[in-house]
Amino acid sequence: MPNRRPIDEAHDFVRRHIGPSPQDIDAMLATVGADSLDQLMAETLPDSIRIKQPLSLGTPLSEPDALTHMTELAAKNQVFTSLIGQGYSGTILPTVIQRNILENPAWYTAYTPYQPEISQGRLEALFNFQTMICDLTGLDVANASLLDDATAAAEAMALAERAVAKKTKAFFVDRDTHPQTLAVLRTRAEPLGWSIIVGDPDTELEAADVFGALLQYPGSSGALRDPRAVIATLHKKGALAVIAADLLALTLIASPGELGADIAIGSAQRFGVPMGYGGPHAGYMAARDSLKRSLPGRIVGLSIDSHGQPAYRLALQTREQHIRREKATSNICTAQVLLAVIAAMYAVYHGPDGLAAIARRVHRRTATLAAGLKQLGFAPINETYFDTLTIEVGSKRDAIVARAEAEKINLRIGASSLGIALDETTTPATVEALWRAFGGELNYAAVERDATDTLPASLTRTGDYLTQPAFQDYRSETELLRYMRKLSDRDLALDRAMIPLGSCTMKLNATTEMMPLTWPAFGSLHPFVPRAQAQGYHEMFARLEAWLAEITGYDAVSLQPNSGAQGEYAGLLAIRGYHLSRGEPHRRICLIPSSAHGTNPASAAMTGMDVVVVACNSHGDVDVDDLRAKAEKHSAELAAVMITYPSTHGVFEEHIRDICDIVHAHGGQVYLDGANLNAQVGLSRPGDYGADVSHLNLHKTFCIPHGGGGPGMGPIGVKAHLAPFLPGHPAEGEALNGVLHGGGTVSAAPYGSASILTISYIYILMMGGAGLKRATEIAILNANYIADRLQPHFPVLYRNLRGRVAHECIVDPRPLKTTTGVTVDDIAKRLIDYGFHAPTMSFPVPGTLMIEPTESESKAEIDRFCDAMIAIRQEIAQIEDGRFKVEASPLRFAPHTVHDVTSAEWTRPYPRTEGCFPAPHSRTDKYWCPVGRVDNVYGDRNLVCSCPPIEDYALAADYARAAE
Ligand SMILES: *Cc1c(COP(=O)(O)O)cnc(C)c1O
Repeated sequence: MPNRRPIDEAHDFVRRHIGPSPQDIDAMLATVGADSLDQLMAETLPDSIRIKQPLSLGTPLSEPDALTHMTELAAKNQVFTSLIGQGYSGTILPTVIQRNILENPAWYTAYTPYQPEISQGRLEALFNFQTMICDLTGLDVANASLLDDATAAAEAMALAERAVAKKTKAFFVDRDTHPQTLAVLRTRAEPLGWSIIVGDPDTELEAADVFGALLQYPGSSGALRDPRAVIATLHKKGALAVIAADLLALTLIASPGELGADIAIGSAQRFGVPMGYGGPHAGYMAARDSLKRSLPGRIVGLSIDSHGQPAYRLALQTREQHIRREKATSNICTAQVLLAVIAAMYAVYHGPDGLAAIARRVHRRTATLAAGLKQLGFAPINETYFDTLTIEVGSKRDAIVARAEAEKINLRIGASSLGIALDETTTPATVEALWRAFGGELNYAAVERDATDTLPASLTRTGDYLTQPAFQDYRSETELLRYMRKLSDRDLALDRAMIPLGSCTMKLNATTEMMPLTWPAFGSLHPFVPRAQAQGYHEMFARLEAWLAEITGYDAVSLQPNSGAQGEYAGLLAIRGYHLSRGEPHRRICLIPSSAHGTNPASAAMTGMDVVVVACNSHGDVDVDDLRAKAEKHSAELAAVMITYPSTHGVFEEHIRDICDIVHAHGGQVYLDGANLNAQVGLSRPGDYGADVSHLNLHKTFCIPHGGGGPGMGPIGVKAHLAPFLPGHPAEGEALNGVLHGGGTVSAAPYGSASILTISYIYILMMGGAGLKRATEIAILNANYIADRLQPHFPVLYRNLRGRVAHECIVDPRPLKTTTGVTVDDIAKRLIDYGFHAPTMSFPVPGTLMIEPTESESKAEIDRFCDAMIAIRQEIAQIEDGRFKVEASPLRFAPHTVHDVTSAEWTRPYPRTEGCFPAPHSRTDKYWCPVGRVDNVYGDRNLVCSCPPIEDYALAADYARAAE
């Protein structure tokens, strides 16, 4: 830790992070009728769960000192040239994209695009991503990203199993697959009773009875084989072919679609996204048209708005886990939107010819490297390859590795072989250094003259790709800069207004927290470098794990899960491992309250558990009698309860300890969904009041920005008895941080999306224990203030016995629907006219709005929001009074666009200005929604998920001209 300067008022980060000033806090306490924050907390949380000691997290650092500390940590990481491959490659992030997307809050603070009207910019960027994936893979539909390539492989396996519906429950995996992919597949298959057969597809698939197979293309060793015959064999069996493909290679070699594959998966990392010691990066998945309705993750589709103009929105299966719950086959919620946007922009920047030129150069360098190695007596074992060579080196291995290390180069180290994967950043000097490591002084130009390319003719890519205008029109930096600016201007992110989303905790993502992750010392590390090169990272992991353990009251923490849902999955696997270790494999029942987030039942189903739903009572609390009855009924088979605390209804239930006790008495474990930890940090700790395991959404409570729908991190904390069942990783042997772990592998990289852990780390570093507690108290004050201001206008649905809500509240406009026809949608869309993102809609109670202000919103902004809600209530009153019918009201026509106000005809029963400028501030600082209300039904009936080919644009342009 650096020397700490005493923090003066001007440099007190806690004051910057927290929105309301001390005077505001006093005024708000008066509004809610509490004498002090202490009194409010006493009325909000049950006394039985309060912690009496302050959190022991050290004294906080000022922003400059925190950055000095990060510089010191960075100096303990060493940036080598990593040619390890295995799914991670060096890449050059164009600086214009780095500064204007990765480092731009207009992009990184946006929420998941559930409100399409205010999300057209990122939806278009994601549509470009899907188009790029469809074109490069030669398949019909792609989703808007998955968490990483290994989990994408597991999702593909599950998709194949569901689609094929064969009796056989075996899946074949090419032995030339990345080890971490295989580990994640094994972890996913085992609890579901599926077996994994690993072998050589050319010789061993024929005899295997399987529902599908995964082929790595090119292989993990670099070998490039023609999979056509294998795919034909699979299809003869009625099984599906999944190809794990390298996107850069696909610019030159035949696409999975051309080869006959049904599904393609992989990573978009090498399209401009820094390796970041493991992430975040966008995993991708594409599939044949016939599989589109079961594709996991979110899919952006084209629909029309209320004016009949094209508009994007998320397609139907977007909230699959919320709709299908325990019948869902995937739990994916947060994905990797920001990284998908970067990868798509990388393709926009380079265009198809630029991408192919990069690929050709990488291949040329590889062919030259191979020719030189042959001269030195080291012929690669794979004769056809794209960018990766594997060389048998026998006993010379350690000497070569030592010389490569002296050249600051990392190779992939096998038992008696070495792997070398080249990339966009590889120079002739790197290749010459590699030859030196193998014992020879060769000249690049001289060797290249005689080197021949080795891409097999049978695998030459045919046909165009990325011919759409997006990948053609923005090649100059000026054009690209304006394109990115145009898209972000269409969107409403946290840099413009409060995003009051219940359960999503859209708080400040401070600039200081965001700085270090793009430093090369954090961004440029391959996840599998020798640990000695990542000392800075490991020092940070150890401290962060200890801090999160202190905050939650748990004994051990795993940083591997790269989303909240993955944390649930990892936590339930730990519970499962624990029961198995005690000889109780029959404990498979998971009790889940009806109000739970959809990922809960989906994660339970993925670990092979059977979900039993527990009722909620009229106060929104878990019905303890029902829980007791169900725990008794299933006592012998009880595995766990999954409970969210404070509840998804935004209330600290009084009976949480009883619930934990009941489940423990029947031999079950308590999984406490920690997504709502923002209401607890510094006040109560799940580990103290009976929970055994929780995930924490670092992209909610701990300041990682939402990125428009990812990245996120969902580390889990566990009590000591579950620690042996935390996730492990093949790259770390059996042990992760020196502990033996039997919980399988849930992410491609050992520490998930490691680079963004810097954000949460700096947040805790600058807040300290007292600052974090203060943040929680203000989050609760802000929520109670909103609840009390809105109560006379919209009833607040649930409060505790003393009339308090936790860090969020649900307001209930359903009675107004009965009297006026105004829907929750109308209110959400009308808020756009006032310049606000809607609260969470219809979760957990259909037809209601859940509002979470967080501690970072000032009283002024919260008042502006409450004023908007109250004004909307008055507009509803005008419908009640008969001024206009709901169909003709500004609520139903919302959001209002420029198109609306400037139309020649105006026949509505309210003035244009009332439609567009409902709030006093909106005349000067108006957010103009680019599209009218989006028609979801139309979009789902006519699913369009990638840019049409260029000919259709001409048609569309004709159509648009005709319509004008
Ligand atoms: C956000 C959330 C999750 C899921 O987290 P992801 O990171 O989106 O996978 C789970 N439970 C609750 C209560 C949440 O709010």
